[in-house]
Amino acid sequence: MFKYEKKDVMADRYVRVKTAQGKVYYGLLELNQSVQVLDTAPWLGGEPNGELLAPETYQLLHPCEPSKIIAVGKNYSAHAAEMGGEVPKEPILFLKPTTTLIDPDAEIALPPQSKRVEYEGELALVIGTRCFNVTPKQAIAAIWGYTIANDVTARDIQRSDSQWTRGKGFDTFCPLGPWIVREISPTAMLQTFVNDVKKPFQSAEIDEMVFSPDYIVSYISQIMTLLPGDVILTGTPEGVGPMQEGDRIYIEIEGIGKLQNTVILREPLPSIEDENIEQSEID
Ligand code: MG
Repeated sequence: MFKYEKKDVMADRYVRVKTAQGKVYYGLLELNQSVQVLDTAPWLGGEPNGELLAPETYQLLHPCEPSKIIAVGKNYSAHAAEMGGEVPKEPILFLKPTTTLIDPDAEIALPPQSKRVEYEGELALVIGTRCFNVTPKQAIAAIWGYTIANDVTARDIQRSDSQWTRGKGFDTFCPLGPWIVREISPTAMLQTFVNDVKKPFQSAEIDEMVFSPDYIVSYISQIMTLLPGDVILTGTPEGVGPMQEGDRIYIEIEGIGKLQNTVILREPLPSIEDENIEQSEID
């Protein structure tokens, strides 16, 4: 179950930003791209402190700082089928370390250990209130807002390992943002685009997901305490595919916006020979 958006009203967009001086603030993005600074995270009761950041004087950061990122696997039936399986009877959960988080427009780094890294466009839930062992109905109130995530996955490693920590856990494997909205339409389209190809590689309505946000939050809360700012990735629809160096990945969710990131190669570990040469230069 989703919180319905009000029709014909531009949703408030909650951001986290860094100024040129290196100060980090939560804020409210205005239509002219100015940011009203909030005195703390909005889910902790943050209020405007009167400060206004002019457009182009700040950089957008991933919009919250979760204590954990919990993700749901195979939550769209067509995606479960393309992965060669069925939708599970209960949600499949896994964790992504918070060091996977990167900002809107930041670079996804392909690690040398993988030959196939894939995008997974997903709706992300942001938790607003601490909760443990809550019903789906109570869970609705605990969901503060919605944003966009890319659950980047080293597919070959995910398939070869018996669990997913390595395949899902590389640094830069969780682009998040660009901002949080409080409400979303259940029929909002989730679409993933690569480079300049007009046709989306992924395209689904978010209510095609099997386990709904309230069910997922209730389910997780029966296992672990969810804290304000925690992030839940709700699964990806059909159409996942590989990313190459230089690609630009755009994930759009109607009513939220567009999360954009570029893809680079991560440098391999220096070989032992190189390390010895470097060491002898130091000596
Ligand atoms: Mg996923």
